[in-house]
Amino acid sequence: MLQPVGVGHKSLADYTHLVGRPLVAEIRELAEGLRGLKVLHLSATAFGGGVSEILYTLVPLMRDVGIEAEWEIMIGREEFYNVTKRIHNALQGSEHELDAHSWEVYEQYNRMNAEELSGGWDVVIVHDPQPAAVRQHVPEKARNWVWRCHIDLSTPNAATMERIVPLVTDYDGSVFHLREYVPAALDGASCTVHICPPAIDPLSPKNMALSPEDAAFVCDQFGIDVDRPLMCQVSRFDPWKDPIGVIDAYRAVTAEMPEVQLALVGSMATDDPEGWEFFNSTIEYAAGDPDIKILNNLNNVGAIEVNAFQSQADVVVQKSTREGFGLTVSEALWKARPFIGGAVGGIPLQVQDGETGFLVSSPEQCAQRSLEILREPELGKRLGRAGKEHVRKHFLTPRLLRDWLRIFADLA
Ligand code: UDP
Repeated sequence: MLQPVGVGHKSLADYTHLVGRPLVAEIRELAEGLRGLKVLHLSATAFGGGVSEILYTLVPLMRDVGIEAEWEIMIGREEFYNVTKRIHNALQGSEHELDAHSWEVYEQYNRMNAEELSGGWDVVIVHDPQPAAVRQHVPEKARNWVWRCHIDLSTPNAATMERIVPLVTDYDGSVFHLREYVPAALDGASCTVHICPPAIDPLSPKNMALSPEDAAFVCDQFGIDVDRPLMCQVSRFDPWKDPIGVIDAYRAVTAEMPEVQLALVGSMATDDPEGWEFFNSTIEYAAGDPDIKILNNLNNVGAIEVNAFQSQADVVVQKSTREGFGLTVSEALWKARPFIGGAVGGIPLQVQDGETGFLVSSPEQCAQRSLEILREPELGKRLGRAGKEHVRKHFLTPRLLRDWLRIFADLA
């Protein structure tokens, strides 16, 4: 048996005041025709990173509108996650290809998971490449299979792509954040392509309204001087998230405003064995600067703490060099924070340069924009307010729920 994930209860009605009645009514109408649909989300981990963040809200909301939604995670060990992290990196553009043994490990775990999977599903939604090969062993276990890709496939390693694409061409549907991510080989295949970016939960502990006093109270406990300006990036310790570039930007900022502090808040995902190595090299790069706080979930940084850091920061940064979507972007914008992001992947979808934040392509630009915001608080407020409205319209979970219901209706 695969391991089911417990997700608690959420009610769509609670979101009405945030997203408006028309969207809620549209969801209810769509859901009416889908009542009792048996849907399984299959993913690699229930902890850390964007996929689990999304599912903890999407699954209970699907249930609330009458879908029989479940979420199960794969059986895996370190050898498997080492391989799937390399697949992930290669699909995002790393030139390191996988050897035959790695593909055998990938195949072996997928076969084992396929055998353990229960049957009788109307739809199985397979998240990301880790379980992508499950379907080919047991297509009969679900009426429809949908591959949900959360990563940036715009410049993939060709050899790795050639292994993954044939695994998903026989799916009934595939879902990508952006049109640019759709592999050419999927166009024209029988698998229907859907474009739908993810979303954040405005009512989760990570995103619910926190008073400035409470945010400051929490940050103070982590050694932040809440009377001095703070830059912050929240992300896994991963080279594509470029925490080293953030430190460079912070150093350029402090050359002009020495009072500024930096918090790098990063959770360690159970399926990310590289994380620790990169965490340590980030600490090394910070070279003992007491104004750089490098924190992770093992320092007790959970959802509320992430909320507090994002709410407290005078500038929130997500200086990624590759980014499938970047939930942290919408999380920061929803808190009406002045935001600076790398001009890559899903970030420009969320940030209209100069209107809802700034887009940058180097540590120097990041430093420059940070200084502008720190010196002109009114500018930061204007960007933050516009950012929040942009997220309200496009990137809150009820919209994502609506998109999924449309996909289910299409399949039916
Ligand atoms: N996150 C967290 N604690 C951390 C670092 C990250 O809870 O210390 C969360 C973050 O708030 C976001 C998710 O992990 O909700 C990361 O999703 P994103 O799409 O930004 O990036 P991914 O990790 O999927 O590449």
